[in-house]
Amino acid sequence: MATLDLSQITKRFGKVTAVDDLSVAIENGEFFVILGPSGAGKTTTLKSIAGLVDVDGGSVHIGGVDMTRVEPYHRNVAMAFESYALYPQKTVSENLASPLKSGRTGKYSEAERAERIDQVTTTLGINHLLKRFPRELSNGQRQRVALGRVLVRPADVYLLDEPLSHLDAKLRAAMRAELKQLGAMSNTTTVYVTHDYQEALALGDRIGVLREGRLVQIGTPAELWNRPADTFVARSLGQPEMNLLDGVVDDGVVRLGDGELEVAIPDGLPVSRGDRVRVGMRPCDFHVRGSQVDTSVDVALSGHVVLAERLGRNIELTVDVAGEQLIALTTGRHGVGEGSDAVMSIARSDVHFFAAG
Ligand code: ADP
Ligand code: MG
Repeated sequence: MATLDLSQITKRFGKVTAVDDLSVAIENGEFFVILGPSGAGKTTTLKSIAGLVDVDGGSVHIGGVDMTRVEPYHRNVAMAFESYALYPQKTVSENLASPLKSGRTGKYSEAERAERIDQVTTTLGINHLLKRFPRELSNGQRQRVALGRVLVRPADVYLLDEPLSHLDAKLRAAMRAELKQLGAMSNTTTVYVTHDYQEALALGDRIGVLREGRLVQIGTPAELWNRPADTFVARSLGQPEMNLLDGVVDDGVVRLGDGELEVAIPDGLPVSRGDRVRVGMRPCDFHVRGSQVDTSVDVALSGHVVLAERLGRNIELTVDVAGEQLIALTTGRHGVGEGSDAVMSIARSDVHFFAAG
């Protein structure tokens, strides 16, 4: 276990800047999640930490030691790739032992290997699978064994590249919850890469949102959820995505769309009259009714429903509000359907303001 300091890392492939001036200080024992879409530079960031690519600029310090030009073999970093392959002809137990038999960890005695394996299989809940072959495992079990192969190696830093990405949604959610409950990676310095915001929010001590090689915001899940720094971060978190409306600052309010709608400006927001801003409201933060019953609500927007789609337990409403189409995610207990009038209310504290552009 160790701290991990990345300072101004840059990595280019020809004309593509895969990682762009990336800095973050990760604490000893921290579980740090990098969240970003495909192509954002997540894998390249991990490879830069592991030493599998030569960075064009910046430095990597592990436990305070400059590792920037050190061979991967000597960095004491365990990295798992997206494929998470197992040896098909080896049992689970043999699969877990093999990382302890090769490379610099080859010096483990049989007793030490057994102890590491026991520890990891207990944390991941796979003790009962030790004698099986990979073909005798479910997808979720295979994934856990693959993760075990990474965690079994004692390392200063663990790097996990989308470990749950090729599981179906249901299994992914189950594994996510299990990993969290097991505390499988508590007290290990881990960088966990994903494009799944739910995984990031559930697992991360902190999250860094990566866009085109740059970390655009770093914070705890609550900080990112409550105060996204820009519209990219805002739309990266939550499904359906946050509604965004263009507006112009007037006296104490932002006028939206054609000016019929307005939202009060919170105290301390550094804007002045005439500024163009974007106003964000999450679909899940609206309360929808057929008419306005509660006049004490902070913000109420009247419109009519153009589309109502049932998504399992919820109903997703598309509501036309003064020419703008807003999405609301509702429980469906409002009696509002396609063609009905609707009033969407939202707490003032759930309205987000961003710079335009
Ligand atoms: P992510 O893991 O977030 O999907 P990557 O780190 O794999 O992103 O890629 C970031 C960018 O760098 C992409 O544009 C990708 O095409 C490019 N890239 C990654 N590896 C290479 C490589 N070995 N050669 C050329 N371009 C690469
Ligand atoms: Mg990748």
